[in-house]
Order: sequence, then C-alpha cells, then structure tokens
Amino acid sequence: MSDCLFCKIINGEIPCDKVFENEKVLAFNDIDPQAPVHILVIPKVHIESLNDINQDNCEIIKEIHLVIKKIAKDLKIDRDGYRVITNCGELGGQSVKHLHYHVLGGRNLKWPPG
Ligand code: AMP
Ligand code: ZN
Repeated sequence: MSDCLFCKIINGEIPCDKVFENEKVLAFNDIDPQAPVHILVIPKVHIESLNDINQDNCEIIKEIHLVIKKIAKDLKIDRDGYRVITNCGELGGQSVKHLHYHVLGGRNLKWPPG
C-alpha cells in the first residue's frame, strides 16, 4: 500500500536496520527499542492486522514464526526466553497498520503489560 510506512520500508523508500530478509518476510530493529532486543518481523505483503488473516493468506504466519525462531536462536535469546507480540487495533495499541510481530528479549519482561 502506497501510504503504508512498513510497505515503504519493504520497497526501500524508507531505510531500516535490517536483521533478516527472505522472499516473504522482513525483520528489522525497532526504531524505539523497549528491550535490548526489539525486532519487528513483517510480511512483505500488505496485511493490515491479525484481523485480516484468513485461509488464503495464513501461510505467512507460519513463515513469520519460523523466522522469529531463527532470529531468536541467532541472537542467542532462545534459551533465556523472549516475547512475541502483535498489537491489533486501537485498544491493542497498534500504531502501524501493517501486520507486525514485536520480538522482545534480553531482559526480564514483566507481566501483565501496561
Ligand atoms: P505498534 O505500536 O505495535 O503498531 O508498533 C509499531 C512499531 O513500529 C513501534 O514499536 C515503533 O517504534 C516502530 N517504528 C515506527 N517507525 C519505525 C521505523 N521507521 N523503523 C523501525 N521501527 C519503526
Ligand atoms: Zn503495508
């Protein structure tokens, strides 16, 4: 989508601090990190939020999870533990309307979140 921030990152219009990329998925460091590791993992296709996942596009969720697992292992946060979050909609705190998964690690994460 032309006015979507993350689509602009995908097509190179806006730079990012890339962590991983394959044909379907891009991962980059969050610009405002909330933990020593704070990476965003996004599909290269524009999907607005988890609300828009369906039988036709849900394969990407598997791909994203496999990428998250690989990143966690590569950054050595897999054993100590980490958190994966997708904020959905206004009350969920979603500010960018392109599906994304926050991967947070490297510190003791509190629960419940704010
Ligand atoms: P959310 O609030 O769940 O929609 O998450 C959006 C995330 O995108 C926030 O954590 C922002 O810090 C992050 N963000 C916004 N702009 C950029 C950017 N240009 N590069 C990297 N991360 C960004
Ligand atoms: Zn988009």
